[in-house]
Amino acid sequence: MKKLAVIVPCYNEELVIAESYRRTKEALKSLSISTEIIYINDGSQDKTRQKLDEIAANDPFVKVIHFSRNFGHQPAVTAGINHCDADLAVIIDADMQDPPELIPKLLALQEKENANVVYCVRKSRDGESVFKKLTAKLFYRTLNYMSDVSFPVDTGDFRLIDRKVMDQFDKLRERGKYIRGLISWVGFKQVPFYYERESRIAGETKYPFSKMWKFASTAMLYFSKKPLYLAISLGFIAVLVGIILAIWFTLGKIYGFSNAETGWTSIMTSVIFFGGVQLLTVGVLGQYIGILFDEVKARPEYIIDEKKNF
Ligand code: UDP
Ligand code: MG
Repeated sequence: MKKLAVIVPCYNEELVIAESYRRTKEALKSLSISTEIIYINDGSQDKTRQKLDEIAANDPFVKVIHFSRNFGHQPAVTAGINHCDADLAVIIDADMQDPPELIPKLLALQEKENANVVYCVRKSRDGESVFKKLTAKLFYRTLNYMSDVSFPVDTGDFRLIDRKVMDQFDKLRERGKYIRGLISWVGFKQVPFYYERESRIAGETKYPFSKMWKFASTAMLYFSKKPLYLAISLGFIAVLVGIILAIWFTLGKIYGFSNAETGWTSIMTSVIFFGGVQLLTVGVLGQYIGILFDEVKARPEYIIDEKKNF
């Protein structure tokens, strides 16, 4: 019999775990295939661990992975996929922003279209700040422009994937994983499913600005070399401006139409401007060297403390 796993990353979600479990279980009831839930506790400091252990003790169809510390959302989802032996998996957030009631619909669409991936596109995002909505919109569009791969915009990790995709995903060796991008990159048949994103049922977002920034820069650096080309373009423009100025001043000196000596302001401006250009381009280069450094060290993406019901 076919099996479907629901992968749920959780970080300090004590307020939503019980309701998330109840609603997910309820949604899975109507399916005729066997199902299980894999919770990944991403080093929560609250009662998430106890709550998940309690659920796992009473329900053999719930598996739990506890990380040794907080590794982040993407490593948590990665661990879920790596430990999934089901034929199909749905990745979903613990906070119910992505309603689990949609899972049967995703499955139906997958069967109808014979798709390998059903990715969920947010028609609207309820209860999120203007800042979050704006940065998200900007991020997905910029990434699409910067990257060689084209991604569907306004989609999160909420999606259904099949065994074929999971097997390919498991083979990926890069440590900085931008999962929604990698799943698009893998290919096969991918179909969209449109839905309204709801607001978090309880608790606060676990994605403060620092995590959003890290997430966005990982996506950018791992999927695009354009920042490097932009650095070259900036350098090229600077050189061109320099040459033009040199010619202008030389001719000015010969024919007496420019008085270049009294140029304190222009010198200061250009020193600061081109100093900035240089720091910026070195900074861009540094970012790529930084990820190379991380990849070369090849530390694991996550460390597991304990597994339950595996
Ligand atoms: N999450 C996680 N580790 C983290 C941050 C978040 O496992 O370091 C989980 C979190 O528990 C939730 C999902 O990732 O299930 C999405 O996080 P959140 O809802 O806070 O993000 P938002 O929807 O605000 O972007
Ligand atoms: Mg959320």
